[in-house]
Amino acid sequence: MGVKVAKFGGSSVADAIQIEKLKNIVEADPERRYVVVSAPGKRFDGDNKITDLLYLCKAQIDHNAPYGQVFQVIWDRFVAMEISLKVDVGMGALLEEIRERLGENPSADYIASRGEYLSAALIAAYLGYDFVDAAGLVRFDKKGKFLNEESLAALAEELGKHERAVVPGFYGTYPDGKIKTFSRGGSDITGAIVANAVKADVYENWTDVSGFLMADPRIVKNPKAISRISYLELRELSYMGASVLHENAIYPARQANIPINIRNTNEPDDPGTIIEADAIERGEGAPVITGIAGNKDFSVIAIYKNSMSTEVGFIRRILSVFENYNIPIEHIPSGVDTVSVVLSKKYLEDHVSDILDEIERKAQPDSVEVFDDMALIATVGSGMAARPGVAALLFRALYRAGVNIRMIDQGSSEMNIIIGVENKDFETAIKAIYAAFVEPGESMGSI
Ligand code: ASP
Repeated sequence: MGVKVAKFGGSSVADAIQIEKLKNIVEADPERRYVVVSAPGKRFDGDNKITDLLYLCKAQIDHNAPYGQVFQVIWDRFVAMEISLKVDVGMGALLEEIRERLGENPSADYIASRGEYLSAALIAAYLGYDFVDAAGLVRFDKKGKFLNEESLAALAEELGKHERAVVPGFYGTYPDGKIKTFSRGGSDITGAIVANAVKADVYENWTDVSGFLMADPRIVKNPKAISRISYLELRELSYMGASVLHENAIYPARQANIPINIRNTNEPDDPGTIIEADAIERGEGAPVITGIAGNKDFSVIAIYKNSMSTEVGFIRRILSVFENYNIPIEHIPSGVDTVSVVLSKKYLEDHVSDILDEIERKAQPDSVEVFDDMALIATVGSGMAARPGVAALLFRALYRAGVNIRMIDQGSSEMNIIIGVENKDFETAIKAIYAAFVEPGESMGSI
Protein backbone atom coordinates (compact mmCIF):
# COMPACT_ATOMS: atom_id res chain seq x y z
CA MET A 1 0.00 0.00 0.00
CA GLY A 2 1.24 3.47 -0.83
CA VAL A 3 1.41 6.40 1.56
CA LYS A 4 -0.19 9.79 1.15
CA VAL A 5 0.32 12.80 3.36
CA ALA A 6 -2.76 15.02 3.47
CA LYS A 7 -2.33 18.56 4.77
CA PHE A 8 -5.47 20.54 5.53
CA GLY A 9 -5.30 24.34 5.65
CA GLY A 10 -7.13 26.78 7.92
CA SER A 11 -10.38 26.95 5.97
CA SER A 12 -10.52 23.12 5.84
CA VAL A 13 -10.47 22.90 9.64
CA ALA A 14 -12.36 26.13 10.41
CA ASP A 15 -15.26 24.41 12.19
CA ALA A 16 -16.90 21.04 12.85
CA ILE A 17 -18.60 20.98 9.43
CA GLN A 18 -15.28 21.37 7.67
CA ILE A 19 -13.64 18.76 9.91
CA GLU A 20 -16.40 16.31 8.97
CA LYS A 21 -15.50 16.86 5.31
CA LEU A 22 -11.86 16.25 6.24
CA LYS A 23 -12.80 12.95 7.82
CA ASN A 24 -14.73 11.84 4.72
CA ILE A 25 -11.75 12.69 2.57
CA VAL A 26 -9.24 10.89 4.79
CA GLU A 27 -11.44 7.82 5.12
CA ALA A 28 -12.08 7.64 1.38
CA ASP A 29 -8.49 6.52 0.81
CA PRO A 30 -6.67 4.20 3.24
CA GLU A 31 -3.35 5.49 1.89
CA ARG A 32 -4.00 8.84 3.61
CA ARG A 33 -2.11 7.72 6.68
CA TYR A 34 -0.50 10.97 7.80
CA VAL A 35 -2.47 14.15 8.23
CA VAL A 36 -0.99 17.59 8.90
CA VAL A 37 -3.28 20.38 10.01
CA SER A 38 -3.35 24.15 10.29
CA ALA A 39 -5.11 26.11 13.01
CA PRO A 40 -8.78 26.87 12.31
CA GLY A 41 -9.08 29.70 9.81
CA LYS A 42 -11.96 31.94 8.78
CA ARG A 43 -15.43 30.42 8.63
CA PHE A 44 -16.88 33.35 6.67
CA ASP A 45 -15.81 36.77 5.41
CA GLY A 46 -14.99 39.00 8.33
CA ASP A 47 -14.31 36.08 10.68
CA ASN A 48 -10.96 35.75 12.47
CA LYS A 49 -8.27 33.13 12.04
CA ILE A 50 -7.31 31.48 15.32
CA THR A 51 -3.63 32.25 14.61
CA ASP A 52 -4.41 35.96 14.25
CA LEU A 53 -6.32 35.90 17.55
CA LEU A 54 -3.39 34.20 19.26
CA TYR A 55 -0.98 36.85 17.96
CA LEU A 56 -3.46 39.45 19.18
CA CYS A 57 -3.33 37.94 22.69
CA LYS A 58 0.44 38.27 22.60
CA ALA A 59 0.21 41.93 21.49
CA GLN A 60 -2.24 42.67 24.31
CA ILE A 61 0.04 41.00 26.85
CA ASP A 62 3.02 42.99 25.59
CA HIS A 63 1.05 46.21 26.02
CA ASN A 64 -0.23 45.24 29.44
CA ALA A 65 -3.75 45.26 28.05
CA PRO A 66 -6.37 42.69 29.07
CA TYR A 67 -6.35 39.69 26.74
CA GLY A 68 -9.06 37.65 28.46
CA GLN A 69 -11.79 38.48 25.97
CA VAL A 70 -9.71 37.54 22.94
CA PHE A 71 -8.64 34.30 24.58
CA GLN A 72 -12.27 33.56 25.39
CA VAL A 73 -13.15 33.71 21.68
CA ILE A 74 -10.42 31.13 20.99
CA TRP A 75 -11.62 29.03 23.90
CA ASP A 76 -15.23 29.06 22.74
CA ARG A 77 -14.35 28.04 19.20
CA PHE A 78 -12.30 25.02 20.25
CA VAL A 79 -14.79 23.89 22.89
CA ALA A 80 -17.69 24.23 20.41
CA MET A 81 -15.78 22.05 17.93
CA GLU A 82 -15.10 19.42 20.57
CA ILE A 83 -18.79 19.29 21.46
CA SER A 84 -20.02 19.23 17.85
CA LEU A 85 -17.58 16.49 16.88
CA LYS A 86 -18.55 14.47 19.97
CA VAL A 87 -15.00 13.72 21.02
CA ASP A 88 -13.31 14.14 24.35
CA VAL A 89 -9.77 15.46 24.22
CA GLY A 90 -10.05 17.36 27.48
CA MET A 91 -10.16 20.59 25.51
CA GLY A 92 -11.02 22.66 28.59
CA ALA A 93 -7.93 21.42 30.43
CA LEU A 94 -5.66 21.97 27.40
CA LEU A 95 -6.97 25.53 27.07
CA GLU A 96 -6.57 26.14 30.79
CA GLU A 97 -2.93 25.09 30.57
CA ILE A 98 -2.36 27.59 27.76
CA ARG A 99 -4.18 30.32 29.68
CA GLU A 100 -1.84 29.76 32.62
CA ARG A 101 1.22 30.01 30.35
CA LEU A 102 -0.08 33.30 28.95
CA GLY A 103 0.28 34.74 32.45
CA GLU A 104 4.06 34.20 32.13
CA ASN A 105 4.19 36.13 28.84
CA PRO A 106 5.65 33.34 26.69
CA SER A 107 7.11 33.94 23.23
CA ALA A 108 4.93 34.90 20.26
CA ASP A 109 5.97 31.65 18.58
CA TYR A 110 4.72 29.56 21.49
CA ILE A 111 1.39 31.37 21.59
CA ALA A 112 0.87 31.22 17.82
CA SER A 113 1.69 27.51 17.70
CA ARG A 114 -1.14 26.58 20.05
CA GLY A 115 -3.72 26.90 17.27
CA GLU A 116 -2.12 24.03 15.34
CA TYR A 117 -1.51 22.07 18.54
CA LEU A 118 -5.16 22.11 19.62
CA SER A 119 -6.41 21.59 16.08
CA ALA A 120 -4.24 18.46 15.67
CA ALA A 121 -5.23 17.05 19.08
CA LEU A 122 -8.91 17.46 18.22
CA ILE A 123 -8.69 16.06 14.70
CA ALA A 124 -6.55 13.09 15.79
CA ALA A 125 -9.25 12.11 18.29
CA TYR A 126 -12.02 12.58 15.74
CA LEU A 127 -10.24 10.44 13.13
CA GLY A 128 -9.06 7.85 15.64
CA TYR A 129 -5.47 8.58 14.55
CA ASP A 130 -2.48 9.03 16.90
CA PHE A 131 -1.53 12.58 17.81
CA VAL A 132 2.18 13.11 17.14
CA ASP A 133 3.44 16.51 18.28
CA ALA A 134 5.82 18.33 15.95
CA ALA A 135 7.76 19.62 18.98
CA GLY A 136 11.08 17.79 19.14
CA LEU A 137 10.65 16.37 15.64
CA VAL A 138 10.62 19.45 13.44
CA ARG A 139 13.96 20.93 14.49
CA PHE A 140 15.64 24.31 14.26
CA ASP A 141 19.13 25.33 15.33
CA LYS A 142 19.82 27.95 18.00
CA LYS A 143 19.56 30.73 15.45
CA GLY A 144 16.23 29.49 14.15
CA LYS A 145 17.52 27.88 10.97
CA PHE A 146 15.48 24.84 9.98
CA LEU A 147 17.47 21.58 10.27
CA ASN A 148 16.27 19.53 7.35
CA GLU A 149 18.23 16.29 7.68
CA GLU A 150 17.81 16.09 11.46
CA SER A 151 14.09 16.72 11.22
CA LEU A 152 13.61 14.15 8.49
CA ALA A 153 15.41 11.52 10.53
CA ALA A 154 13.46 12.32 13.72
CA LEU A 155 10.10 12.37 11.93
CA ALA A 156 10.83 9.16 10.01
CA GLU A 157 11.73 7.36 13.21
CA GLU A 158 8.73 8.57 15.18
CA LEU A 159 6.13 8.25 12.44
CA GLY A 160 7.45 4.78 11.67
CA LYS A 161 5.94 3.79 15.02
CA HIS A 162 2.50 5.06 14.07
CA GLU A 163 0.36 3.43 11.42
CA ARG A 164 -1.80 6.58 11.20
CA ALA A 165 -1.14 9.96 12.76
CA VAL A 166 -2.07 13.62 12.83
CA VAL A 167 0.80 16.13 13.13
CA PRO A 168 0.31 19.85 13.86
CA GLY A 169 1.74 22.12 11.17
CA PHE A 170 3.56 25.45 11.44
CA TYR A 171 5.99 24.83 14.30
CA GLY A 172 8.87 22.85 15.70
CA THR A 173 11.46 23.44 18.40
CA TYR A 174 14.85 24.99 19.10
CA PRO A 175 17.51 22.67 20.59
CA ASP A 176 16.41 23.80 24.08
CA GLY A 177 12.85 22.67 23.40
CA LYS A 178 11.35 26.14 23.02
CA ILE A 179 8.80 26.50 20.25
CA LYS A 180 9.79 28.04 16.93
CA THR A 181 7.32 28.63 14.10
CA PHE A 182 7.85 28.88 10.38
CA SER A 183 6.65 32.06 8.70
CA ARG A 184 2.91 32.58 8.22
CA GLY A 185 1.25 29.85 6.21
CA GLY A 186 4.02 27.50 7.30
CA SER A 187 1.87 24.41 7.85
CA ASP A 188 2.38 23.81 4.13
CA ILE A 189 6.08 23.42 4.90
CA THR A 190 5.45 20.95 7.71
CA GLY A 191 3.28 18.92 5.33
CA ALA A 192 6.05 18.78 2.75
CA ILE A 193 8.64 17.75 5.35
CA VAL A 194 6.38 15.01 6.71
CA ALA A 195 5.77 13.79 3.15
CA ASN A 196 9.53 13.66 2.60
CA ALA A 197 10.12 11.88 5.94
CA VAL A 198 7.60 9.09 5.30
CA LYS A 199 8.57 8.86 1.60
CA ALA A 200 5.03 9.61 0.54
CA ASP A 201 3.86 8.86 -2.98
CA VAL A 202 2.04 12.15 -3.04
CA TYR A 203 1.70 15.21 -0.84
CA GLU A 204 -1.92 16.34 -0.91
CA ASN A 205 -2.49 19.93 0.08
CA TRP A 206 -6.21 20.41 0.80
CA THR A 207 -7.40 23.98 0.67
CA ASP A 208 -10.45 25.94 -0.52
CA VAL A 209 -9.64 26.17 -4.22
CA SER A 210 -9.45 23.41 -6.81
CA GLY A 211 -5.81 24.04 -7.58
CA PHE A 212 -4.23 26.75 -9.69
CA LEU A 213 -6.03 28.58 -12.42
CA MET A 214 -4.33 29.78 -15.58
CA ALA A 215 -5.11 33.38 -14.69
CA ASP A 216 -6.67 35.41 -11.89
CA PRO A 217 -10.46 34.78 -12.02
CA ARG A 218 -11.06 38.37 -10.96
CA ILE A 219 -9.57 39.42 -14.28
CA VAL A 220 -10.29 36.56 -16.69
CA LYS A 221 -13.78 35.04 -16.70
CA ASN A 222 -13.73 31.33 -15.83
CA PRO A 223 -10.06 30.70 -16.49
CA LYS A 224 -9.09 27.09 -17.11
CA ALA A 225 -7.63 25.10 -14.25
CA ILE A 226 -4.01 24.02 -14.48
CA SER A 227 -4.03 20.25 -14.18
CA ARG A 228 -0.24 19.80 -14.13
CA ILE A 229 2.53 22.26 -13.50
CA SER A 230 6.24 21.80 -12.89
CA TYR A 231 7.98 23.13 -9.78
CA LEU A 232 9.93 25.57 -11.93
CA GLU A 233 6.86 26.93 -13.66
CA LEU A 234 5.16 27.38 -10.32
CA ARG A 235 8.11 29.35 -8.98
CA GLU A 236 7.82 31.71 -11.92
CA LEU A 237 4.11 32.14 -11.28
CA SER A 238 4.13 32.30 -7.50
CA TYR A 239 6.86 34.89 -7.59
CA MET A 240 4.46 37.10 -9.44
CA GLY A 241 1.68 36.71 -6.92
CA ALA A 242 -0.23 33.43 -7.14
CA SER A 243 -0.22 32.28 -3.54
CA VAL A 244 -2.01 29.02 -2.87
CA LEU A 245 1.02 27.26 -1.44
CA HIS A 246 3.83 28.55 0.81
CA GLU A 247 6.84 28.89 -1.47
CA ASN A 248 9.12 27.12 1.00
CA ALA A 249 6.92 24.03 0.83
CA ILE A 250 8.17 23.28 -2.64
CA TYR A 251 11.78 22.50 -1.74
CA PRO A 252 11.25 19.52 0.62
CA ALA A 253 8.83 17.86 -1.78
CA ARG A 254 11.02 18.54 -4.75
CA GLN A 255 14.07 17.22 -2.93
CA ALA A 256 12.35 13.86 -2.62
CA ASN A 257 10.63 14.09 -6.01
CA ILE A 258 7.18 13.90 -4.41
CA PRO A 259 4.35 15.37 -6.45
CA ILE A 260 2.16 17.92 -4.67
CA ASN A 261 -1.55 17.72 -5.37
CA ILE A 262 -3.52 20.87 -4.54
CA ARG A 263 -7.10 19.81 -3.73
CA ASN A 264 -10.33 21.45 -2.61
CA THR A 265 -11.88 20.21 0.65
CA ASN A 266 -15.24 21.63 -0.48
CA GLU A 267 -15.08 19.93 -3.91
CA PRO A 268 -13.28 16.68 -3.15
CA ASP A 269 -14.08 15.21 -6.56
CA ASP A 270 -12.13 17.90 -8.39
CA PRO A 271 -8.72 16.49 -9.33
CA GLY A 272 -6.97 19.78 -8.53
CA THR A 273 -3.49 20.67 -9.72
CA ILE A 274 -0.50 18.35 -9.63
CA ILE A 275 2.88 20.01 -9.15
CA GLU A 276 5.57 17.68 -10.32
CA ALA A 277 9.09 17.19 -11.60
CA ASP A 278 10.59 19.78 -13.81
CA ALA A 279 10.08 18.40 -17.26
CA ILE A 280 6.47 17.83 -18.13
CA GLU A 281 5.66 16.12 -21.36
CA ARG A 282 2.50 17.81 -22.49
CA GLY A 283 0.53 16.06 -25.17
CA GLU A 284 -0.13 17.29 -28.69
CA GLY A 285 -2.44 20.25 -28.78
CA ALA A 286 -1.88 21.22 -25.14
CA PRO A 287 -1.70 24.96 -24.55
CA VAL A 288 1.74 26.46 -25.01
CA ILE A 289 1.50 28.40 -21.80
CA THR A 290 0.79 27.09 -18.32
CA GLY A 291 -0.31 30.30 -16.66
CA ILE A 292 -0.25 34.06 -16.50
CA ALA A 293 0.37 36.02 -13.32
CA GLY A 294 1.31 39.53 -12.45
CA ASN A 295 1.43 42.36 -9.99
CA LYS A 296 0.89 46.07 -10.08
CA ASP A 297 2.83 48.91 -8.52
CA PHE A 298 6.41 48.60 -9.62
CA SER A 299 8.72 51.53 -10.26
CA VAL A 300 11.41 51.85 -12.90
CA ILE A 301 14.53 53.93 -12.40
CA ALA A 302 15.99 54.52 -15.84
CA ILE A 303 19.64 55.58 -15.84
CA TYR A 304 21.38 56.99 -18.93
CA LYS A 305 25.09 57.49 -19.39
CA ASN A 306 27.08 57.90 -22.55
CA SER A 307 29.40 54.90 -23.13
CA MET A 308 28.03 53.19 -20.05
CA SER A 309 28.66 49.73 -21.44
CA THR A 310 32.42 50.32 -21.57
CA GLU A 311 32.66 51.66 -18.01
CA VAL A 312 33.86 48.88 -15.72
CA GLY A 313 31.87 48.59 -12.47
CA PHE A 314 29.07 50.97 -13.50
CA ILE A 315 26.22 48.53 -12.89
CA ARG A 316 27.79 47.33 -9.66
CA ARG A 317 27.90 50.91 -8.35
CA ILE A 318 24.24 51.41 -9.23
CA LEU A 319 23.18 48.16 -7.63
CA SER A 320 25.17 48.82 -4.47
CA VAL A 321 22.88 51.80 -3.81
CA PHE A 322 19.87 49.49 -3.59
CA GLU A 323 21.81 47.03 -1.52
CA ASN A 324 22.57 49.78 0.99
CA TYR A 325 18.85 50.36 1.41
CA ASN A 326 18.19 46.63 1.57
CA ILE A 327 15.88 46.85 -1.43
CA PRO A 328 15.35 43.73 -3.58
CA ILE A 329 15.42 44.26 -7.34
CA GLU A 330 13.04 42.53 -9.74
CA HIS A 331 14.70 43.17 -13.11
CA ILE A 332 17.56 45.07 -14.68
CA PRO A 333 16.83 45.48 -18.40
CA SER A 334 19.63 47.31 -20.17
CA GLY A 335 20.58 48.96 -23.45
CA VAL A 336 23.90 50.24 -24.78
CA ASP A 337 23.86 53.47 -22.80
CA THR A 338 20.99 52.80 -20.42
CA VAL A 339 20.15 50.52 -17.59
CA SER A 340 16.81 50.40 -15.80
CA VAL A 341 16.20 49.06 -12.35
CA VAL A 342 12.72 47.66 -11.77
CA LEU A 343 11.61 47.33 -8.19
CA SER A 344 8.48 47.24 -6.11
CA LYS A 345 7.18 50.77 -5.57
CA LYS A 346 6.64 50.19 -1.86
CA TYR A 347 10.41 49.96 -1.29
CA LEU A 348 11.12 53.17 -3.09
CA GLU A 349 8.50 55.46 -1.62
CA ASP A 350 10.32 56.56 1.53
CA HIS A 351 13.79 56.79 0.02
CA VAL A 352 13.40 58.02 -3.51
CA SER A 353 15.34 61.28 -3.26
CA ASP A 354 18.12 59.71 -1.14
CA ILE A 355 18.51 56.90 -3.64
CA LEU A 356 18.65 59.27 -6.60
CA ASP A 357 21.26 61.38 -4.81
CA GLU A 358 23.36 58.35 -4.11
CA ILE A 359 23.15 57.10 -7.71
CA GLU A 360 24.21 60.58 -8.81
CA ARG A 361 27.19 60.53 -6.46
CA LYS A 362 28.36 56.99 -7.11
CA ALA A 363 27.79 56.66 -10.86
CA GLN A 364 27.60 60.21 -12.26
CA PRO A 365 24.98 59.35 -14.87
CA ASP A 366 23.94 61.80 -17.59
CA SER A 367 20.34 61.55 -16.46
CA VAL A 368 18.02 59.53 -14.28
CA GLU A 369 14.26 59.22 -14.61
CA VAL A 370 11.75 57.51 -12.38
CA PHE A 371 8.56 55.98 -13.80
CA ASP A 372 5.95 54.83 -11.36
CA ASP A 373 2.83 52.77 -11.74
CA MET A 374 4.20 49.92 -13.77
CA ALA A 375 2.73 46.44 -13.66
CA LEU A 376 4.69 43.28 -14.42
CA ILE A 377 3.07 40.30 -16.09
CA ALA A 378 4.72 36.89 -16.42
CA THR A 379 3.52 34.52 -19.10
CA VAL A 380 4.89 31.13 -18.13
CA GLY A 381 5.07 27.71 -19.69
CA SER A 382 7.73 25.09 -20.30
CA GLY A 383 5.98 24.52 -23.63
CA MET A 384 7.22 27.93 -24.77
CA ALA A 385 10.88 26.98 -24.96
CA ALA A 386 12.38 26.58 -28.40
CA ARG A 387 9.03 27.30 -30.02
CA PRO A 388 9.00 30.00 -32.67
CA GLY A 389 6.07 32.36 -32.70
CA VAL A 390 5.31 32.57 -28.98
CA ALA A 391 6.64 36.09 -28.54
CA ALA A 392 5.01 37.16 -31.79
CA LEU A 393 1.64 35.93 -30.55
CA LEU A 394 2.03 37.65 -27.22
CA PHE A 395 3.07 40.99 -28.65
CA ARG A 396 0.46 40.89 -31.39
CA ALA A 397 -2.23 40.29 -28.77
CA LEU A 398 -1.05 43.29 -26.78
CA TYR A 399 -0.77 45.45 -29.87
CA ARG A 400 -4.35 44.58 -30.86
CA ALA A 401 -5.54 45.38 -27.34
CA GLY A 402 -3.85 48.78 -27.54
CA VAL A 403 -1.43 48.04 -24.70
CA ASN A 404 1.92 49.78 -24.77
CA ILE A 405 4.76 47.56 -23.53
CA ARG A 406 7.27 49.40 -21.36
CA MET A 407 9.67 46.57 -20.64
CA ILE A 408 10.43 43.06 -21.91
CA ASP A 409 12.45 40.37 -20.19
CA GLN A 410 12.73 36.72 -21.10
CA GLY A 411 14.22 34.24 -18.66
CA SER A 412 17.16 32.28 -20.03
CA SER A 413 15.16 29.08 -19.59
CA GLU A 414 12.76 30.47 -22.23
CA MET A 415 10.03 29.41 -19.85
CA ASN A 416 8.71 32.87 -19.21
CA ILE A 417 8.26 36.21 -20.88
CA ILE A 418 7.89 39.09 -18.49
CA ILE A 419 6.50 42.37 -19.70
CA GLY A 420 6.05 45.70 -17.99
CA VAL A 421 2.94 47.72 -18.80
CA GLU A 422 1.29 50.69 -17.14
CA ASN A 423 -0.85 49.83 -14.13
CA LYS A 424 -3.96 50.99 -15.97
CA ASP A 425 -3.34 48.42 -18.75
CA PHE A 426 -2.74 45.50 -16.37
CA GLU A 427 -6.14 43.81 -16.64
CA THR A 428 -6.50 44.46 -20.38
CA ALA A 429 -3.08 42.94 -21.00
CA ILE A 430 -3.78 39.79 -19.00
CA LYS A 431 -7.13 39.30 -20.74
CA ALA A 432 -5.51 39.76 -24.14
CA ILE A 433 -2.69 37.29 -23.43
CA TYR A 434 -5.11 34.72 -22.06
CA ALA A 435 -7.41 35.04 -25.04
CA ALA A 436 -4.55 34.72 -27.50
CA PHE A 437 -3.05 31.59 -25.99
CA VAL A 438 -5.96 29.77 -24.45
CA GLU A 439 -9.31 30.66 -25.88
CA PRO A 440 -10.63 28.46 -28.65
CA GLY A 441 -10.84 30.03 -32.04
CA GLU A 442 -7.62 31.96 -31.60
CA SER A 443 -5.21 30.80 -34.23
CA MET A 444 -2.14 29.87 -32.20
CA GLY A 445 -3.61 28.37 -29.01
CA SER A 446 -1.37 25.40 -29.64
CA ILE A 447 1.20 26.83 -32.01
N1 ASP B 1 -1.85 28.98 11.17
C1 ASP B 1 -0.69 29.54 10.57
C2 ASP B 1 -1.04 30.80 9.85
O1 ASP B 1 -2.17 31.25 9.87
C3 ASP B 1 0.04 28.57 9.72
C4 ASP B 1 -0.77 27.92 8.63
O2 ASP B 1 -2.00 27.91 8.67
O3 ASP B 1 -0.17 27.40 7.70
O4 ASP B 1 -0.17 31.42 9.28
